[in-house]
Amino acid sequence: MSPSIDGKIKKKSLKKSVKKETALDLAEKIKRKALLDKKNNESKESKVKEPESEPESQDEEESKETEESKPTINSFKDLKLIPELLEACQALKFDKPTPIQAEAIPHGIEGRDLIGLAQTGSGKTAAFAIPILQALWYAQTPYFATVLAPTRELAYQIKDTFDALGSGMGLRSVCIVGGMDMMEQARDLMRKPHVIVATPGRLMDHLEHLKGFSLRALKFLVMDEADRLLDMEFGPVLDKIFKVIPRERTTYLFSATMTNKIDKLQRASLTNPVKVSVSDRYSTVDTLIQSMMIVPDGQKNTYLIYLLNQFEGKSIIIFTRTCAHSQRTALLSRILGFSAVPLHGQLTQSQRLSALNRFKSGKTNILVATDVAARGLDIPSVDIVINYDIPTDSKAYIHRVGRTARAGRSGKSVSLVTQYDLELLIRIEAIINMKLPKESVNRDEILSLHDYVDKATAQAIRETKEFQETKGKGGKRGKKDYGDREER
Ligand code: AMP
Repeated sequence: MSPSIDGKIKKKSLKKSVKKETALDLAEKIKRKALLDKKNNESKESKVKEPESEPESQDEEESKETEESKPTINSFKDLKLIPELLEACQALKFDKPTPIQAEAIPHGIEGRDLIGLAQTGSGKTAAFAIPILQALWYAQTPYFATVLAPTRELAYQIKDTFDALGSGMGLRSVCIVGGMDMMEQARDLMRKPHVIVATPGRLMDHLEHLKGFSLRALKFLVMDEADRLLDMEFGPVLDKIFKVIPRERTTYLFSATMTNKIDKLQRASLTNPVKVSVSDRYSTVDTLIQSMMIVPDGQKNTYLIYLLNQFEGKSIIIFTRTCAHSQRTALLSRILGFSAVPLHGQLTQSQRLSALNRFKSGKTNILVATDVAARGLDIPSVDIVINYDIPTDSKAYIHRVGRTARAGRSGKSVSLVTQYDLELLIRIEAIINMKLPKESVNRDEILSLHDYVDKATAQAIRETKEFQETKGKGGKRGKKDYGDREER
């Protein structure tokens, strides 16, 4: 819905290549379709002959994976994709499949259910979108696939990937998330899209209330960032969705971590899945330099501003625990002359998208976000991550700092640790298996900033209160701000 400029350019070049299609190409397509239909029928027959077996235990499935001799995948051509997808990959400058794509796509094309253990940045979206689009090319039916994502921004990002990869094949997709106009979404759904990318709660709203809309013809279900879907308590909504979609379907579950909850979810919703994995459990990359600062509780803002001065001009994400902290810290930074935008769940959806776009396009170099932004978002070049508030969930630490040092680039993270956070720090250090070194600071410089930052903080607190009062009156949520866990 809000493709980046970059995305638009990519799509334009794709359209051009599609125009060049000749009658010969079309004949070739029809021939290939006939061949593939034949192959599919054959493989269906051989599947029927396989004895019904219980889903294998994870260990068995994993060892089977390593035992199987896999063909080498060096290019998208090796994946036997239809030309429309090959051209799209080319136009997107995807030279070769990423490891998760090389692992997942062949199984996807074979029609298997998949569990993908991979983080954002690994190319996982295309890893599930490509087999779906390849199957869609032959089926051409509406409501073909639904992708469930935990956050609205991630849903838009996934839709953009589908659109870019599917633009040569007349793909119709919609993004159905909370915070956007229900009527407009209802109209979009009635136009019979092939792919629906949604946050679970809003999709369920439409399934329950929109006459004539059902997912009874669904062929593919994807649960992306499934660990986060469950963390955000979408479990009951997922159960409801499972009840109104066909059992006969292909299901993909992608998650950054494999938790007990995920294990339960996969047993309830997948059939004999293949597990593909490219991420180590809870690891941070070597190109990331992590450090921390012990900060007296009342001086957090002064230390933060000191850091912003140190990292002037760099692209920075500051993570906060609550919406109010995100709003206040962005205001404080702005009052003191930094270019910062907040991103949290008390903003409207269009404010959130615009904040993200401003940051992605480099119009502003500081994004102050709650954990809503910590996961799933593909923001290519973040130099520094600052944990203004230490996350209470230590896995969230990994996801936050994972916003920088991506794709082989170097990056830095600094965590502000007060006397009240020491227990949380110990838990984080245990999970990353290292002690966070102390950031060296110039204390005189920090002290000299204190009065000046204190005054600006008072103003930022006033403005944040005003913001929250207007939200409380007619706003979307008058709820207490215990942390940012919305979405629907
Ligand atoms: P994802 O993990 O799906 O969020 O993808 C992360 C980024 O990698 C996105 O910007 C994709 O456009 C990009 N990407 C995905 N697949 C490839 C590929 N095969 N080659 C290069 N870039 C890719």
